[in-house]
Amino acid sequence: VTDESSDISRINSETGAVSVSADTEKLISRAKNISALTGGAFDITLRPVSKLWGFTDKAPRVPSDDEIRAALEKRGTARIEITDGKVSFDGEIDVGGIAKGYAASLIRSIFAENGIDHAVVSLGGNVMLCGGRPDGAPWNVGIAHPEKEGDIIGFLTASDAAVVTSGGYERFFTQNGESYHHIIDPDTGYPAQSGIISATVISKDDALADALSTALYVMGPEKAERFWRETDGFDMILITEKEILITDGIFESFNLQDKNFKVTKIGK
Ligand code: AMP
Ligand code: MG
Repeated sequence: VTDESSDISRINSETGAVSVSADTEKLISRAKNISALTGGAFDITLRPVSKLWGFTDKAPRVPSDDEIRAALEKRGTARIEITDGKVSFDGEIDVGGIAKGYAASLIRSIFAENGIDHAVVSLGGNVMLCGGRPDGAPWNVGIAHPEKEGDIIGFLTASDAAVVTSGGYERFFTQNGESYHHIIDPDTGYPAQSGIISATVISKDDALADALSTALYVMGPEKAERFWRETDGFDMILITEKEILITDGIFESFNLQDKNFKVTKIGK
């Protein structure tokens, strides 16, 4: 659902600089930085491509290679211009990969301002942990089982952090027996097929966690591992066909439930 009067809709439909709220400005500026940080794996300018696929439409479809190629040309986070309260971009923006995390960070500030010390807020795949449990223990956060809907593959004990999961199973359609999901590889314009079934990011930074979960899913296990070694501020759980890769900062906090999976620790 798109609100026609929203800042993002106006950036997408109007030409030239559009006045936006301070939050929209910050959201887009963070998205742009994370795009650079991830070497373009996270890209909010893919909307012309996603629109072709129509993941949120009643009748999604597989576009032609020509259509995808043409839509890919319209991409480019470097061309997004942000100057005091105004954003201009000659393409189209989709903040679906970071907006929930950014919203979670705003909720976190509201809680802090109002003396709320213990809370869990869940925004579809984005879990925001404020403090720990009132009894002093950390929270338990279930990690969705990517193959068994409604089940968890394991759970994590954590406090004061964002725990965000991206998976192709969250939104997809099938055509001629093939399934196509909503996380696009910016290099190809097709749903990412990186060998990762789901990517979970744990971070103090809610917006970063959201954006990186999407980016790691696109990168695949090897690139994601390299990226983690070079980048501070997050831990991750990557689920592949046969194993669960967990970085050492949270390895001891993960409790495996589905013993069919093997757990492997990743260190710096
Ligand atoms: P998430 O559920 O956080 O992984 O976000 C997925 C959503 O982000 C999709 O539904 C699209 O709106 C958008 N998206 C898809 N591919 C990308 C990408 N490579 N970079 C940034 N956003 C994306
Ligand atoms: Mg995301």
